[in-house]
Amino acid sequence: MLGLMQNQPLLISNLIDFAEHHHGDGEIVSRRVEGDIHRYTWGDVARRARQVANALDGFKLDMSDRVATLAWNGYRHLELYFGVSGSGRVLHTINPRLHPEQIAWIANHAEDQVLCFDMTFLPIIQAVHAKCTTIRHWVAMCDADKLPSDSGIPNLISYEAWMGQQSSTYTWPSMDENSASSMCYTSGTTGHPKAALYSHRSTILHAYAAALPDVMCISARDAILPVVPMFHVNAWGIPYSAAMTGAKLVFPGPGMDGKSIYELIEGEGVTFAAGVPTVWQMLLGHMKPAGLRFSNLTRTVIGGSACPPAMIDAFRDEYNVDVLHAWGMTELSPLGTLCTLKNKHLKLPAEEQMKIRLKQGRAIFGIDMKIVDDAGHEQPHDGKAYGDLLVKGPWVVADYFKGEGGSPLVKDADGVGWFPTGDVATIDPDGYMQITDRSKDVIKSGGEWISSIDIENIAVAHPAVAMAACIGVKHPKWDERPIVAVVKKPGAEISREDLLKFYEGKTAKWQIPDDVVFVDSIPLGATGKMLKTKLREQLKDYVLPGV
Ligand code: AMP
Repeated sequence: MLGLMQNQPLLISNLIDFAEHHHGDGEIVSRRVEGDIHRYTWGDVARRARQVANALDGFKLDMSDRVATLAWNGYRHLELYFGVSGSGRVLHTINPRLHPEQIAWIANHAEDQVLCFDMTFLPIIQAVHAKCTTIRHWVAMCDADKLPSDSGIPNLISYEAWMGQQSSTYTWPSMDENSASSMCYTSGTTGHPKAALYSHRSTILHAYAAALPDVMCISARDAILPVVPMFHVNAWGIPYSAAMTGAKLVFPGPGMDGKSIYELIEGEGVTFAAGVPTVWQMLLGHMKPAGLRFSNLTRTVIGGSACPPAMIDAFRDEYNVDVLHAWGMTELSPLGTLCTLKNKHLKLPAEEQMKIRLKQGRAIFGIDMKIVDDAGHEQPHDGKAYGDLLVKGPWVVADYFKGEGGSPLVKDADGVGWFPTGDVATIDPDGYMQITDRSKDVIKSGGEWISSIDIENIAVAHPAVAMAACIGVKHPKWDERPIVAVVKKPGAEISREDLLKFYEGKTAKWQIPDDVVFVDSIPLGATGKMLKTKLREQLKDYVLPGV
């Protein structure tokens, strides 16, 4: 017997309709590429998203055609989020930090028809447009009078001229909720990137999940600053959860430095911010010397790479801001786990609570997790046994776009498909997952595993260390031994011996790195993560002391 409830597809257009009807005067604030601050409301987003939909119809796009963006976090990008997906097309957000060749490859692979870009990225478009063979329309996200006359890009049109003249009346199409809505290519460091293709259904379910109290706890009382880019896994789904709840959104545009971020947080009464650790490092680096404080910020979600304990401490102890450690992946839309305490933890001493907060967190309802050994045998959830982390759920990929390389899923004995994350983790009896490492970064020394994340966390807890990256180096006896590459804080001094001494008592003796290499910078990938492949290349001639 079927239930007798209305069967309404879950669509992204429902989100923007809801935001307009129930939070029409909710504010959206953006720092623009032009340098000024732009303000309008959810009602304006909805109206202009419908204009975008009409403008796309004017381009004679079919359902499911891809519309690409190369843009910062800002209001025009938000309009495209709803106008493109709402009208049945697929929003393809491209990471502008990728190499231009890779951008062209991705645009061709996705068969993008339209590309909308912020003027900051005009030089990239000038370099790649001739190689992008499927793109028919180039749209510069600016006013008509800001459009350069000699850009060299055929038929370049300004966003405002393109959509501004359209009607703001549009009937969103009804469609299967499993229709594709947006896509994001993985930041894969080897081989060609692969695309996760999200659906309306997966996006809405993820938006509900992300807003839960034990996840990001997003409400109509929040002013949210997503520093995490809208070109990286839909800014962790925040634009959708904000529309669902009517939260105020504050967009940083190109201003990602500590000073610009701090000014926005204070100026706009931001209560909640989200980003990768490197961004918060810059923010704290700006605030500390100037003795600055937060007035409204109460919590921040930090994920994308392991959040160093020293950062959680600094936010909590010095600024009274709750740090929520999160783990996710492009293939998971992206949220998998988030770290919040349970009722029974509230009476624990602060140090015990801190041990929990350092973990990547508990599964969000919808996500199933397990850890397995090399033979695929499930490992106990005792907080000690580690294994390859596998996940499944309604917002986890089943396949990559165009299916290259076959299904990524691993079938269990019952034929159920699990997605192998490539991360190695432990899960404790309370369900808290902790990433030990990326499986390819873990250091295998004398048959034991050393977590590069643990080694890095200790180094960055030293007051003279700004950044640290640990890699394994070949060793004739132990197979591999860890070394740590360190960037010193400006003006700070520390010797190799000092840092190695700092490790004593903080980790097992055999896990202490064999050497410290001081470097000017650590290579970062397009999403702000440390690029260890590149670091290994840079240090390819390095020889361990005494070898
Ligand atoms: P991406 O698909 O580019 O978002 O990268 C996903 C990968 O980032 C994961 O598989 C992890 O290796 C890493 N990652 C994400 N969040 C965390 C975290 N909180 N701690 C450690 N690694 C993380």
